[in-house]
Formats: sequence, C-alpha cells, structure tokens
Amino acid sequence: LLSVLSTACEDCLYMQSFFNIYEQKDRVTEKPDFNEEIYSIEFIDVSFKYPKTEKNIIDRLNMKFVKGKNYAIVGENGSGKTTIIKLLNGLYDEYEGNILINGIEIREIDKKSLRNCLATLFQDYNKYQFTIKENIGFGSIDNLDDIEKIKYSAKKGGADQFINCLPNNYTQQVGYWFEGGTQLSGGQWQKLGLSRLFMKNADCLILDEPTASLDPFSELEIFKQLYQNSNEKINIIITHRFINTVFANKIIVLKNGEIIEKGKHDELLKQDGFYKDMFDIQSRGITLN
Ligand code: ADP
Repeated sequence: LLSVLSTACEDCLYMQSFFNIYEQKDRVTEKPDFNEEIYSIEFIDVSFKYPKTEKNIIDRLNMKFVKGKNYAIVGENGSGKTTIIKLLNGLYDEYEGNILINGIEIREIDKKSLRNCLATLFQDYNKYQFTIKENIGFGSIDNLDDIEKIKYSAKKGGADQFINCLPNNYTQQVGYWFEGGTQLSGGQWQKLGLSRLFMKNADCLILDEPTASLDPFSELEIFKQLYQNSNEKINIIITHRFINTVFANKIIVLKNGEIIEKGKHDELLKQDGFYKDMFDIQSRGITLN
C-alpha cells in the first residue's frame, strides 16, 4: 500500500510537468514558422540562469556561427556548453540578449519549425526499445518507411557494419524490454543516435560529445562523414577530445559560462592559455609519477 501511495505521489509530480509543457505549447504555436536555409546563428550578449539557480550559467556570451564552417566548443564540466545548445534549441526563452538565426530572434519563431532545421544529438540521447529501423527512422518520422534513406543514414553514422551482423538486420528489436530484443553496447547505441541525426536534412548539426563511447577507428570515420559536405552546413561539436578540435575552423573555450579564448587549434596553442593547458594534459598521456 505504501509503495502504491508513493508511486501515485510521484506520478502526480509528473502530471504537473505535463500541464506545464501543455501550457507552453499553446503559447508557442502562435509564432511564425522558420523555413529558411540557415546561413548564420548569432548569440549577442546572451546571459542565462536556470529558474532555480541564482548566478548566471551563461554570462554575456557573444559568438557567431556561419554556414560552411565547423565549430568546436570546449571547456570543463559545468562550464555551460550543453546549456548553450539547449538555448539554441529554444528550450528556454528566459535569457537576456538575443539569439538570432539568419538575423531573426528565435523567441519569435515557432519552436517546432526551429527544431526542424537543427539536428541535435544531446549527450543523454534516447535509446528507443524499438527496432533498429525505427531507432534511426525517428530522426525523420515522415521517412520512417524509407529503408534506403535509413541505410544511407546508418552508413553516415557508422552503424551499418554492426547492423549487418545482427540476426534481423534493420528489423532487429533492440533493448531487453520486448521479446527477441538484443542489447547493444554504449558505442553501438551512440552510432544509432548519430545515424538518427543524419535522417534529418538539417542545415545545422549540433553534437554534444558525439563520440564519447566510440573506439578511435569509429571516431575518425564519424568525423570524416561530418566534415564531408560541411561547406553546406554549420557543424557545432561539443567535445572533450582534442583530436576532434584540430580541424575545427573555430574553437570556443568556455569557463564558468564565459568565453575565455577562441580561435583555431594552432592559434590557441600559441596563446598558451587554458586551452593549451587542457590539451597538454590530454596529449601527455598517463604517467604514474
Ligand atoms: P557542461 O555542458 O559544460 O558540462 P551544463 O551546461 O550542462 O555544463 O551546465 C552548466 C551549469 O548549469 C552546471 O553548473 C549545472 O549544474 C547547471 N545546470 C544544468 N542544467 C540545469 C538545470 N536544469 N537546472 C539548474 N541548473 C542546471
């Protein structure tokens, strides 16, 4: 009885979140759609704190992303990297300053249309207890039955090889919730998440630690795929691995929500600052003394 009561109590809390989201939905549907090809994304003096935090998590941030360039955002844990991505995806409207896409403030755009032109893979991406085909196809619901597109996305996400080794290939049930399901490794789930991203023909790809669970071969392959045709897109990659920043056109270094350094890999090494310190620690490798 106690267990049932506590579950009921917990479910009621979720219901409140549901109503909160439901109310927001009404508010945003009144805004105009955004259907343009993205050529620039700009943060102008953006400051932000979460509803329950006191100090700014993002502090007077100014940066610009333009079509055809690859960007890397680096910084210690808690420096605000993921928060930037959440803001860009329109998850919070209560920021100071402006976030502009093609010069249009994103608060003034319909959220659904905004997210349609961004392909974002968050660090805690979804692992759906469905088939492989559905796990990838959910990136573009309208193309859920387009197996050729799903296979193409799987190849770009580096998932095709392991899928071809599964007993039922693309119709293989994954996870252990349902009968006949097979559990995947962390790296394989990550490849599915990446493949899902490529289902969308988005102008801007945003990846939060996209290769954290991948082996070095798979990682290299993913970055090759990302940088291919990158002159048509904006790629923004949050990473802790400096092997991924070397080829970025611009690296943005964050500390406590502020940009402390920016530039190319070589330029930042020459500056001999925080980036170089982080790079040195990683490139030095492990020593026991
Ligand atoms: P990073 O991606 O650089 O590791 P985050 O953007 O996830 O950092 O978090 C930055 C700071 O914001 C952290 O101090 C974190 O505790 C805080 N934070 C993140 N999400 C929330 C939230 N939903 N509510 C309150 N504080 C949060």
